[in-house]
Amino acid sequence: MGDAPSVTLPGVVDRHVHLGLVDVASLADGPVVEVHDLGWDPRAVRALAAAPPSGLRVRYAGPFHTAPGGYPSGRAWAPEAAVRHVAAPEEAAAAVADVVAAGGFGVKVTLHAGMPLLPDDVLHALVDAAHAARLPVLVHAEGTGQAERAVDAGADTLVHVPWTEVLPDGLIARAAARTTWISTLAIHDGDALGVALDNARRFVAAGGTLEYGTDLGNGPTPPGVHEREIELLGEAGLSGAALRRAVLGPPSAPRLTSPLPLPDTAPDLTAWLRTSRPALPPRRGSHLAR
Ligand SMILES: [Zn+2]
Repeated sequence: MGDAPSVTLPGVVDRHVHLGLVDVASLADGPVVEVHDLGWDPRAVRALAAAPPSGLRVRYAGPFHTAPGGYPSGRAWAPEAAVRHVAAPEEAAAAVADVVAAGGFGVKVTLHAGMPLLPDDVLHALVDAAHAARLPVLVHAEGTGQAERAVDAGADTLVHVPWTEVLPDGLIARAAARTTWISTLAIHDGDALGVALDNARRFVAAGGTLEYGTDLGNGPTPPGVHEREIELLGEAGLSGAALRRAVLGPPSAPRLTSPLPLPDTAPDLTAWLRTSRPALPPRRGSHLAR
């Protein structure tokens, strides 16, 4: 074997998962080193985060905040405790306080047309309460006008690239300035994928931050690295350092090593990850070694 230097990079962070719907043990000691659960029973996901599979860090938002009867109320996959109904602005502060008490890193909000929607006053109250608690607001926006409502209410993150309508350039520009988008492009096909890619390309071109997330648990998304999702990030216009930042964690994340060179394109990154393994952890202090 040659002695070409191996490349070491932070592991993958999947910024949109639902651990209650997957075999969590299948994520042990793989290239995905951190996952962000964006909607579940806060007690259940807190217990998971306290005892995660080996090599995996779990961060979680806690429940979906929605109008009474709003998405995902009544969905077969969503336990009642995963849905927090917020009926009036006065209820927002207590809902956010419960997220804080449960150890959530952010407040998940759903705006899903076709089911009861949070009115603007409740939406704004949730955003204000979350920001007062220094938590980001992560919004599932689906259906006409809902992405715009989220962006203009002060959401920090859209948890899916909008896929139900082509957003106008002015809204894309506002979104790029104020929000991060999580990709979840591979959950779509056909027209919805075309719409999502069109929005994502213009968002990236406008300087927006697009991050890797798979919605693992939603449908047949495979556990571990989702190569199709990375491929679609490339199609959305990401390459080089921006692509690596979108898929990989910060420098402090557990690291991977691969014999392949530094990956600059989506195909190179998937190949790099396929050949990667956990890098040796940093050596312990000598007082521990003795
Ligand atoms: Zn989701």
